[in-house]
Amino acid sequence: HSRLRQTPAERRAESHPLTWRLREDGRRVTLDDYLAGDGYAAVREVLGEGTPETVIATMKAANVRGRGGAGFSAGTKWSLTLTGDDLPRGYLVCNADEMEPGTFKDRVLMEQLPHLLIEGMILGGFANRSRQGYIFLRGEYREAARALARALEEARDADWLGPDIAGSGFDFDIALHTGAGRYICGEETALISSLEGHRANPRAKPPFPGQSGAWGKPTVVNNVETLCNVPGVMRHGADWYQALSGSLSEDGGTKLYGVSGRVARPGLWELPMGTPAGELLERAGGLSDGRRLKAWLPGGASTGFLLPEHLSLALDFDTIGDAGSRLGTGLLTVVPDDQPMVPLLRNLEAFFARESCGWCTPCRDGLPWTVRLLAALERGEGEPGDVTLLEDLARDLGPGRTFCAHAPGAAMPLASALAHFRDEFTAGIAPSRTPRAVGEEG
Ligand code: NAD
Repeated sequence: HSRLRQTPAERRAESHPLTWRLREDGRRVTLDDYLAGDGYAAVREVLGEGTPETVIATMKAANVRGRGGAGFSAGTKWSLTLTGDDLPRGYLVCNADEMEPGTFKDRVLMEQLPHLLIEGMILGGFANRSRQGYIFLRGEYREAARALARALEEARDADWLGPDIAGSGFDFDIALHTGAGRYICGEETALISSLEGHRANPRAKPPFPGQSGAWGKPTVVNNVETLCNVPGVMRHGADWYQALSGSLSEDGGTKLYGVSGRVARPGLWELPMGTPAGELLERAGGLSDGRRLKAWLPGGASTGFLLPEHLSLALDFDTIGDAGSRLGTGLLTVVPDDQPMVPLLRNLEAFFARESCGWCTPCRDGLPWTVRLLAALERGEGEPGDVTLLEDLARDLGPGRTFCAHAPGAAMPLASALAHFRDEFTAGIAPSRTPRAVGEEG
């Protein structure tokens, strides 16, 4: 799955700023290859002539939106660290804990093009007046760990990291920190707790990490793909970035989109932001073995199901948000017509229940409750009222009731599946059953 489907001939520097340097054989782009392809030119320019203020102004003008899934403006996030006098200001953390089901975009960037991420981090560190960066990497990504460790070594040896980068007087280094395989570590405040050596419990926001993060210092947390957008923006400017998506979207840039599930050619494509979902599905060869599309998730398990009629929608943050879901990571999961929804949801909610840190009650108790109800419906042993109870639970797990977005994320596929496919859930209610008491659900 985790491969880019576009050949080198299809990828150009002007239109594929994230992937044009990737090799045909999928091996890591070395420092020499990266330098030969304009690598570290943005660092040289910005550290030579720029200031943190000019970098942040360019990021804001380009309106680079966070590619971890939430789409928050990276420039706005960075501007939080502009206030205050103490230097260095804090930390730049790359969130590389990519664990969203069906998502494998950051993995490809890190395994094959680690220098692009390092370059983006140097620029981010400079803009946020940081001297220390961290890459918080998903523990299972062993190949990415090897590629990053090797690239960090190459960058240090060539003075792209360490004291006085490229003779600019700016000192910055990056530490690689591998996680231990918990989904919740990708939530930025849980990630910070884990980085500090504590249990990965999320913290309340505000304060946002940019105000007070790791070890109480301002800490900017950005996704891998977001940081990989930075060198292009700095080198070519905000207008160039906006133009990449043309008339497809008000958001600029390209996006690493992907498709998984029962399609002929699962994989990744770098396409303009706002590419219609149907076009992406076509690139993936459509559904395999004559199946038809029943529903799709736009970007991971924590997004809401959309229907075939939504395939004409532009895959950007606002359009998918307006349709009642969210873009998330932009890697589609397709559901074929022969896939029943109840077991699919039971499986998804079991994942969320297992990965809950247990800190907030609605998440700790509510998620296993949904799993028990779904399992009973799957066996055909549901009670009258179970589907309404699931709808209530999906609402009670929603935004504003927990410290982090884990439970609201889990509620999205559940609420949308109930809305679109309610009959499949009610079909699991046993005809002869009477309502059970709360807490006795199988
Ligand atoms: P969020 O909307 O709470 O925050 C997004 C980012 O914006 C955070 O960095 C936050 O600090 C910042 N932010 C928000 N409001 C701010 C403000 N007023 N001032 C300054 N900064 C502000 O979302 P989240 O909980 O960080 O992430 C949820 C998303 O994560 C979902 O969309 C989901 O799709 C995605 N997700 C991705 C993965 C993955 O593997 N990539 C895994 C799970 C979830």
